[in-house]
Amino acid sequence: MSKKRFSTLAVSEGEEPTWEGVGDAVSPIHLASTFALPELDPDMSLEELDPDSGDYVYSRLSNPTRNALEHRLAALEGGEHAFAFSSGTSAISSLALAVVTPGDHIVAFEDLYGGTRRLLEDLFDERLDVEVTFVDATDPDNVADAMRPETEFVWMETPTNPLMQLCDIEAIAEVVGDDAVFGVDNTFSSPYFQQPLELGADVVAHSTTKYINGHSDSVGGAVITDDDDLAEQIEFLQQVGLGDMLPPFDSYMVMRGVKTLPVRMRQHEANAQVIAEYLEDHDLVTDVFYPGLESHPQHELASEQMSGYGGILSFELDGDMSDARAFLESLEVFTLAVSLGGVESLIELPAGMTHEPLDPEEREARGITDSLIRISVGIEDIDDLVEDLDRGFEAMETERSAVAGDD
Ligand code: PLP
Repeated sequence: MSKKRFSTLAVSEGEEPTWEGVGDAVSPIHLASTFALPELDPDMSLEELDPDSGDYVYSRLSNPTRNALEHRLAALEGGEHAFAFSSGTSAISSLALAVVTPGDHIVAFEDLYGGTRRLLEDLFDERLDVEVTFVDATDPDNVADAMRPETEFVWMETPTNPLMQLCDIEAIAEVVGDDAVFGVDNTFSSPYFQQPLELGADVVAHSTTKYINGHSDSVGGAVITDDDDLAEQIEFLQQVGLGDMLPPFDSYMVMRGVKTLPVRMRQHEANAQVIAEYLEDHDLVTDVFYPGLESHPQHELASEQMSGYGGILSFELDGDMSDARAFLESLEVFTLAVSLGGVESLIELPAGMTHEPLDPEEREARGITDSLIRISVGIEDIDDLVEDLDRGFEAMETERSAVAGDD
């Protein structure tokens, strides 16, 4: 078979039209928890079952729908092995558990998704005796300085949430070398815009809840790697150690959602670029954080390591939390909600929503102010999106005049 390109793999990798002799053009949903065996084989080893050859016994171990999805995700990230979990959080947690043991050390980007930061601090550092050092990984030298002989895992996100900071995957891969496992959370870019394994990472994780599924109707996660030994550990945790895997129905949803990943990502990005430029020119905005803007301090790095700048951006209103509230509550097209990566535009106030659990001092230190707004730009008509933001700014001005007693 000839080697297929990304958009073709997104549509067809893992589909087996001849399955079950009825020629389904898309993989059916196999809901069975257990599978009839053709014969009694007392020597059957559960560890040596090969789902690709039709060896199905029990759905926690392997399931045809999940197996099809895992093949597709591996192909899209350019890896050999993929494992689908019941959330992005469980994917990242299982991956870390597959790598470290008590007494080990982890180096992680300080600007991580809040949930990942919490699991590293509260589960690994506090309970499992795995010390975690958070660094400003925008400079790879800081990663190098934090490495110790007992460092086994280096964990990065790029771009980060919500300030869209980048780290240089190739440079950090060089710093880490063979001393530790280097993993990247590729949720924000999706494999369509960024391929960390090709840039030297050992393993990639996703919250498939976001762009990969793309329709805000399934929670899931995935880990993808080329490393056979690491894959064996992850497989053990997914199927035996934790028994945490993506159920068949969600596997089907993600198989279906990911087919349109390339077209969605192109539209997300096109809309995000227009909105970023619109906000950059607006008098009521003091800062815009989007790697596609030339004003982004790491625009050059973004152009080198990403093939597109993605659909997430954040901006600083020239105002306070009550201005932000007036702005957000007046919107008609954007939905005020956490999460990201769906076809619909979502908007949120990190200080009061996604990043509210952080201490106010920590938020301030990280630049997450009370007037910082994050947008996950959807694929709607761009004119409706811009008109909606106009509405938000008008509401903010009306609120200000009311407070000042102008009307
Ligand atoms: N990684 C990133 C970058 C995220 O934004 C999120 C969730 O927002 C997660 C991981 C966790 O994923 P999930 O909510 O599917 O557990």
